[in-house]
Amino acid sequence: MSNEPELFPTTGEDGQHFRRPLTPEEADRLPHVQRLLLGYFGEPPKREPWDPLSQFIYSLLSSRTRTEMTYAVVRNLRQRFGTWENLRDAPVAEIEEAIREITFPEQKALHLKVALEQITERYGSLTLDFLHRYRTDKIRAWLAQFPGMGPQTTAAVVNFSTLRRKAISVDAHHLRVSQRLGLTPRADAATTEERLMRLVPETWTAEMLDDHHQLVKKLGQTICTFEKPECRQCPLLAICPYGQREVVATEPTSPLG
Ligand code: SF4
Repeated sequence: MSNEPELFPTTGEDGQHFRRPLTPEEADRLPHVQRLLLGYFGEPPKREPWDPLSQFIYSLLSSRTRTEMTYAVVRNLRQRFGTWENLRDAPVAEIEEAIREITFPEQKALHLKVALEQITERYGSLTLDFLHRYRTDKIRAWLAQFPGMGPQTTAAVVNFSTLRRKAISVDAHHLRVSQRLGLTPRADAATTEERLMRLVPETWTAEMLDDHHQLVKKLGQTICTFEKPECRQCPLLAICPYGQREVVATEPTSPLG
């Protein structure tokens, strides 16, 4: 955990937990980020949400793999096996061969087969449609029991699928950008999501959170990259303490001193 002071403290000097209301400035931080990103990138493409099981399969395969590649692999799985039941019943080696283009195919093939078998065993058939009946926190806790499912992937299943619940799928890009902007302290995905969700206006829908995720991810992939953020051309520079420090630090020195 970080030693940085908490931006929105939840523990008072007497150790009592509380959650103070956000100031108007704090309450506008995420909407401000959103307005600037929308102004720069435009509206992200609208997602056609998948059923929860298909999104589960996608999310389980997606870690450390490019989005386009994961989509291509999931499409290929559908074509090759015809049904998710056939995928479940296939030998691990065949699943591994079918997903060999993504990262860690050996481990993910095993996780996928075990998860599909466990879902069938627990529910009686291979579907996650029954999750529609449950509260978001219950769904996420249930999904987290499966190997390979963490905070980022459970958020993706509940937010991107037809479940369409409020959650932020904090991937490596989202984590880095949030920290550089000073929206969250240096923390893991679960803590970062929890801090960000405190800043989400009540009026934001699950679809708006999906848009927000896509915009922040795009910024992280194109401008706020891990190695060399291009702060001078970033639409968030005016509200980014890290970026402003970077710009000052790399300012060319005047020959006149
Ligand atoms: S100003 Fe720089 S550090 Fe800040 S979000 Fe933009 S690219 Fe990232």
